[in-house]
Amino acid sequence: MEREFVNIPMVVDIPYCFAAGSYLARFLIELRDNGKFFGIECPNCGRVQMPPRIVCAACHVRNGEWVEISHDGTLMGFSIVHLPLTDPTTGQPHKTPYTYGIVRLDGANSSIEHFIDVEPDIEKVWVGMRVRAVLRPQAERIGDLSDILHFAPIGEA
Ligand SMILES: [Zn+2]
Repeated sequence: MEREFVNIPMVVDIPYCFAAGSYLARFLIELRDNGKFFGIECPNCGRVQMPPRIVCAACHVRNGEWVEISHDGTLMGFSIVHLPLTDPTTGQPHKTPYTYGIVRLDGANSSIEHFIDVEPDIEKVWVGMRVRAVLRPQAERIGDLSDILHFAPIGEA
């Protein structure tokens, strides 16, 4: 017997909001108001987390020193996405295909995941690609990670 797949379409609308907390709030406010990235440095191991977290993920002590982070970084990994995943900030599905990646900004020891503005073609994107953050124009920034529109290649080796 041939297997029949039955889909049940439904629309689920769940508006949701959570408190960013003091560290992530400072990060988002600096991004929104000044277009700058800040990480937080562990006083024990020197590891810089960006986006900032209260506690060092490596040695579990309270982070303390704020450090400005470059807009330039390195693509550490990526996916060419073919599923129309829903953007949690807009509730709208992304137009596919698109490139999504893990970026380690210069001066940080942790990474951020975001859209990569390259053609979604495995021949045109690679681990190690140098990229730069492209921000929303200042007057249009809203104080969340969508203030980073994407990361774009900068052509450095
Ligand atoms: Zn540490």
